[in-house]
Amino acid sequence: MEYVVAAIVIAVMVVVIAAFVAMGRRGGQATAPEQRQTSSTSTGGAAGTREEEGAAGRGGVVTDEHPPTGADDLGVVEEPPAPVVEKPAPAKGRMVRLRSRLARSQSTLGRGLLTLLSRDRIDEDTWEEIEDTLLSADVGVKPTQELIERLRTRVRVEGAASPEEAKAILRDELLTLVGTDLDRSLHVARQGGKPAVVLVVGVNGTGKTTTVGKLARVLVAEDKDVLLGAADTFRAAAVDQLATWGERVGVPTIRGPEGSDPASVAFEAVKAGIEQEADVVLIDTAGRLHTKTGLMDELGKIKRVVEKQAPVSEVLLVIDATTGQNGLIQARVFAEVVNVTGIVLTKLDSTAKGGIIVAVQRELGVPVKLVGLGEGADDLAPFEPTAFVDALLAD
Ligand code: GDP
Repeated sequence: MEYVVAAIVIAVMVVVIAAFVAMGRRGGQATAPEQRQTSSTSTGGAAGTREEEGAAGRGGVVTDEHPPTGADDLGVVEEPPAPVVEKPAPAKGRMVRLRSRLARSQSTLGRGLLTLLSRDRIDEDTWEEIEDTLLSADVGVKPTQELIERLRTRVRVEGAASPEEAKAILRDELLTLVGTDLDRSLHVARQGGKPAVVLVVGVNGTGKTTTVGKLARVLVAEDKDVLLGAADTFRAAAVDQLATWGERVGVPTIRGPEGSDPASVAFEAVKAGIEQEADVVLIDTAGRLHTKTGLMDELGKIKRVVEKQAPVSEVLLVIDATTGQNGLIQARVFAEVVNVTGIVLTKLDSTAKGGIIVAVQRELGVPVKLVGLGEGADDLAPFEPTAFVDALLAD
């Protein structure tokens, strides 16, 4: 009997203790929301640098579902901190500032030519070596022949040149070859009360999306109101990548659902640009060089829908300078499909073959307007022939 009573007492005690423990747990959970830390998210995409992470962390969207009640009780609503927007470097004179990048990558061409031209006696073998140097720097056959012809004439007329004279002659003739009188300005002024529309085209991997992001910064540095259209809808990462570039300088990006029609995104971007009275709408397009007909259909449609609302002011073709002859073939195909108005030559910091500037301009009859000189945010420069040639011939 005693055992039975003891067992009942123990059982009751166990139940009571278990009930207390359970209540304690529930009470703890009830306080959890107040204890939860405020968290932030960023839309930071593929190009997440430490700088971006910092900016996103400071200006990210607050996602806490349970804000502290104290603020409401006092009638004070806490605003999330304003996003930190970067101030891009001025575009003017960028190429001079980035000249060391060019000098590093292009020294083979410039110095090679200078050494050959400074020889005491320039015989046929030397001229052949000069020709080989130009051809291997992708200058192209016809421009190379023209340059050699002009150099030969000057050396004949002006006599054997000292190294300084040789340098002056070469500088002159390279400038003529690159072209100092082409209109390299970007047409980005509002027209007829509508924003300028810039289509950026090119094969994937050439640096197209990066160029759109960097170009947005160039324009922001010039106090332009910019809007981005993420019409490269085939590469999911491209849309996020572009939006991240935009966020960094406070520029909005119009995007569609993944895999949506690029033309409809372009249409919406221009529509938003008109409504928001933007100065420039920059549209990143898909760069799949599948078939010429496919490309023509795609770019043709984008251009048509855009032009229903505003004229296209610039079509910039992005070419990767490191791809040499392949780049030229791509350029030819795009030029047949759209009316290219300017060339952006990227990755000029990673090749010694700067001669492609001459070749591509000749091929398309369109000027190089911008050059990419690195992966940094402000490593896109308006192309300046003098800075380029001086970098080629730098000591
Ligand atoms: P897309 O597929 O044409 O849009 O190409 P992306 O914009 O994604 O760029 C491809 C790669 O090229 C990225 O790693 C870029 O950082 C790199 N890139 C773009 N422009 C330059 C440049 O001027 N110099 C160097 N070194 N890399 C570049």
